[in-house]
Amino acid sequence: LVSREHHPDRSVIRVGGVPLGPDTLTVIAGPCAVETPEQTLAAARMAQQAGAALLRGGAFKPRTSPYAYQGLGEDGLRILAEVREETGLPVITEVIDPGTVELVAGYADMLQIGTRNMHNFALLQAVGAAGRPVLLKRGFAATIEEWLMAAEYIAQRGNLDIVLCERGIRTFETATRNTLDISAVPVVQRLSHLPVIVDPSHSGGRRDLVLPLTRAALAVGADGVLIDVHPDPGTALCDGDQAVPPSGIPELADAIAILSPLM
Ligand code: PEP
Repeated sequence: LVSREHHPDRSVIRVGGVPLGPDTLTVIAGPCAVETPEQTLAAARMAQQAGAALLRGGAFKPRTSPYAYQGLGEDGLRILAEVREETGLPVITEVIDPGTVELVAGYADMLQIGTRNMHNFALLQAVGAAGRPVLLKRGFAATIEEWLMAAEYIAQRGNLDIVLCERGIRTFETATRNTLDISAVPVVQRLSHLPVIVDPSHSGGRRDLVLPLTRAALAVGADGVLIDVHPDPGTALCDGDQAVPPSGIPELADAIAILSPLM
């Protein structure tokens, strides 16, 4: 269902009215985790300054360590809905188990499946039936074929509003948190009609790499980027090292504006 054999033209997916797909460059940005109403609103304003049309923030956080910040849960979803009201930005947020899909879908414009859950087939089927577009991140150890098969699980439930996100894979290299597989973008665009975006924040895991990896993503033809921003990364409860601070927004906005006409 997700292959170009089935559907030769590349698809455009709409998230709260915002198009994602060929001929447009969609910037998604926001805090890795929703922490407070003030922090989320400030991050959303930063996202808008960077050119974002969609806000992404995590309320349910799938952390490697059970002792790390796990998110605000439904309180976080309420904050995201308030910030959408205030800014007009449609909201994307992660869902981490089938039992909360309905709850999250009640607040979000798009459901995110994170890298750790790409192989969680019960969750993929549940979001496939939830009536919301889905942002499907690549598993950090998944092949492109496995990633597309995960998308197939969602599509099989009748939901073809899927956006694929390359977010880096695990390799022998330790200088970066993950290795951004930039070639996955054109490879997947040839195999599948679904839009493909890049997450330069989780792939590098380092703030100084966000701008160069954003440039690389846009140059290779990604349909969008997903960027972590935070009003005060030093106090961030989750992934502060990769968050772009307010001082980094103008340069990011310029890079995006310069590369947008290439799309
Ligand atoms: C995220 O986008 O908030 C996230 C946790 O990313 P990933 O699943 O790619 O690690």
